[in-house]
Amino acid sequence: MYKKIEELAKKYAPSVTEWRHAIHSCPELSEQEEKTAALVAEVLTGLGLDVRKNVGGHGVVGLLKGAQDGKTVGLRADMDALPMLEETGLPFASKTSGVMHACGHDTHTAMLLGTACVLSELKADIKGSVKFIFQPAEELNPTGGAPGMIKDGVLENPHVDAIFALHVWPGFETGKVATRSGAQMGASDRLFLTVSGKTAHGSAPHQGIDGIMIAAQVVGGLQTIVSRTVAPVDSAVVSIGTIKGGYRYNVLADKVEMEGTVRTLRAETQDKMPALIEKIAKGYAQSLGGDATVKYVKGYPPTINAPELFELVKEIVPASIGEGSLIVPDSPDLGGEDFSFFSRERDCLMAWLGCRSVGQPMSETPVLHNTKFNPDEGCFPYGMRFLASCAVGYLGKRG
Ligand SMILES: [Zn+2]
Ligand SMILES: [Zn+2]
Repeated sequence: MYKKIEELAKKYAPSVTEWRHAIHSCPELSEQEEKTAALVAEVLTGLGLDVRKNVGGHGVVGLLKGAQDGKTVGLRADMDALPMLEETGLPFASKTSGVMHACGHDTHTAMLLGTACVLSELKADIKGSVKFIFQPAEELNPTGGAPGMIKDGVLENPHVDAIFALHVWPGFETGKVATRSGAQMGASDRLFLTVSGKTAHGSAPHQGIDGIMIAAQVVGGLQTIVSRTVAPVDSAVVSIGTIKGGYRYNVLADKVEMEGTVRTLRAETQDKMPALIEKIAKGYAQSLGGDATVKYVKGYPPTINAPELFELVKEIVPASIGEGSLIVPDSPDLGGEDFSFFSRERDCLMAWLGCRSVGQPMSETPVLHNTKFNPDEGCFPYGMRFLASCAVGYLGKRG
């Protein structure tokens, strides 16, 4: 079966590349994935699948029923692009200025379409059903696109038992698949922090309350949460990304607004964060005569890989893609991923698909969310083989 999948992945790789170029050149922002969804629906309909459109926004779902009854496995790809100006210089670069597929979701969508082609040809051998889930709005933290699809019933009719997904990953070379048991990606929350002080002449700070100085203390103080409150064997990040305040070089600021992000790996640690941040911000501000308010917006939960699926993938990947192709990373990544909403509902597994050309040094490889991000298209057959093998392997084992 894996041999057949390999041959079919090779057969459909040119189509996948074509779809990828089409999607890449017409990127669409979160919640605007109209054309991408139309292309997806057209391909799935052409394959004779049961297709549902507008699931949780522009989401598209295709159902492939195998020849025999069995479980239902989901395969998920995301479809949205980012508000960035592309600088790849590729012949199929974005035609929409200021919008770019810099996270590789164009490749995920194209590879999942290719997987649908592969599995459609293997229908007679499939024991159960495969649901192809094309999801909008992954980049729309804290809302995301997965919750809308779940609300619109993507996990039912038929009931989905497990879901696999992949994300292109320039940290690994083409031909490698990286996944682990438990946390794969972190929780990603947003932080809005306002410090209040009192204006005065810069030459007479004792007559005012210096909001900028308080903000500086608060930024430093927040780092003690990570270093002194979270256990050393646990993980967390608190980063302030913007800081705005002040009027003029010789006026003390009475208001400073900051925004940041908080990343954690465990739900318990994530739950503790709002109170800890408020305590630090208010404590520092009040001790210096000012005050602080904190708005904490919970975003994506951690993406957790089901141990049972990881055990299965440990057998499938070497057998299907080859010995040595599976990498088990020591630690998760603290990037957020809204596949996590699915992982709260069902057994799920996300893998990182190596997409750095073999031999190319990491220092010369643009990373995700970089304006020059350009994954090696040689990874597409591996992505299709991974998804198709996981689907067949799961259904075969459980059906
Ligand atoms: Zn992204
Ligand atoms: Zn992404």
